[in-house]
Amino acid sequence: MEQMLASMRSYFQSGATQSLSFRKTQLLRLRDAIIAHEEALYIALYQDLKKGKEECWVTENGFVISELNATISNLEAWLEPTPVPTNLLNLPSSSRIEKEPLGVVLIIGPWNYPFQLLFTPLIGAIAAGNCVVLKPSEFASATEQVMKDIIVSCFAPEYILYMSGDGASVIPAMMQSFVFDHVFYTGSTAVGRLIYKMAAENLVPVTLELGGKSPCVVESDANIEIAAKRIVMTKFSNAGQMCVAPDYVLVHASKKDALVKAMRKRIEQYFGALPEESENYGKIINEKQFDRVSAYLSQGKILYGGRVNRNILFIEPTLLEEVSLDASIMRDEIFGPILPIFSFETKEQALQIIQRHPNPLAFYVFTASGSVEKGWLKAVPCGGACVNNASWHLTNHNLPFGGRGFSGTGAYHGKFSIETFSHKKAVMKTPTWFDPALKYPPLKGKLKLFKWIIR
Ligand code: NAD
Repeated sequence: MEQMLASMRSYFQSGATQSLSFRKTQLLRLRDAIIAHEEALYIALYQDLKKGKEECWVTENGFVISELNATISNLEAWLEPTPVPTNLLNLPSSSRIEKEPLGVVLIIGPWNYPFQLLFTPLIGAIAAGNCVVLKPSEFASATEQVMKDIIVSCFAPEYILYMSGDGASVIPAMMQSFVFDHVFYTGSTAVGRLIYKMAAENLVPVTLELGGKSPCVVESDANIEIAAKRIVMTKFSNAGQMCVAPDYVLVHASKKDALVKAMRKRIEQYFGALPEESENYGKIINEKQFDRVSAYLSQGKILYGGRVNRNILFIEPTLLEEVSLDASIMRDEIFGPILPIFSFETKEQALQIIQRHPNPLAFYVFTASGSVEKGWLKAVPCGGACVNNASWHLTNHNLPFGGRGFSGTGAYHGKFSIETFSHKKAVMKTPTWFDPALKYPPLKGKLKLFKWIIR
């Protein structure tokens, strides 16, 4: 492994990955391979998570193709140096910020959107001119094999290396034997902390895309039918195994009954009376996650759902009330299809609950009022937010996607991915035709002049 990583460093240092045409060719090659593997991806994602083709297109392969298309069309513009003004002291120099590739970077993916969350950062890393080690999650094993086929069919291992295996052993082994130029990690906060510590040993910069408890507020003036439709759609997509899923709902007391009624209706409309038989409803990834999530079912009063079948890793879309804030369901990220619902009379009551988990990855508020919207957005620092919507902000590549604090550090998507995988190099160019004695010693007697120029 050490030899492989060293050969990646040499390949990077040869400058082979730097030209615009090289980067564009690799992105086009990647797009062709993803298209060629479309059916294989559908089969694998169904096997791992019971995702239907349509859901795959929106959240996995189609998502990645759309990111690739945007990057390919804008690559030249996004890589252009940014000219900036030069201050009086340095005139007539000119100044610019160049985007310099970082080198050999490590991208670590999770299992819930195994394809999207490994390949979207890969696009940014290639576009920015880096060599990449890709470490997929070991838990989405069918998708892991197809991703490997795609990468091996496109790229030489000294350029893009696909490294499978148990994360707890493979990742420390790599990070301890090789100094990466950047680590981009998506996954749980607990493992993110370990990655951050290992990176710190060698002062390696990181992007951490973590999880957390994303709150969803439904105000008294919200359009309840729309709120129910959109919350249910996002929360139960991929059987709730989504980093930006509404973790719990805080609804104004005057609208709780109406919201619950509307949500029940939508769950049945989307997934039918037997969601385990629905093509639109996913499964839990494995027994370990099934046991963890299904244990939450006893921590409140079930308003809807609650059925499980461990043999097929099925947990029914479930609405819970009367949940204690100290129960583990309200301490951990739920990451499954169970939605606790709390009602509030005042904004302060709702904020007290939200502030138990500061800086969520996402925050959602449903309201008809611009000033209520503003008030909530100011009150809840978070990675990203939606108003009258849930999770769709991450599908717009013109917006940066990332968390803050416990939900992560750094962001990506579209041109923000190129920024993440580039160093912003400051360049000043000074002409030789003008060279006043002012800056050179002896400096004595120039204080008044300096005070005029530097202020
Ligand atoms: P995880 O932390 O178990 O695993 C993620 C990656 O870390 C895998 O590739 C795994 O091999 C590796 N890993 C596991 N243990 C390790 C260890 N001890 N040392 C080094 N590497 C190790 O995360 P997960 O369960 O795959 O994903 C679920 C979590 O990810 C949830 O918390 C979710 O919110 C979060 N998530 C965040 C985003 C985001 O974009 N912010 C997206 C998806 C998931």
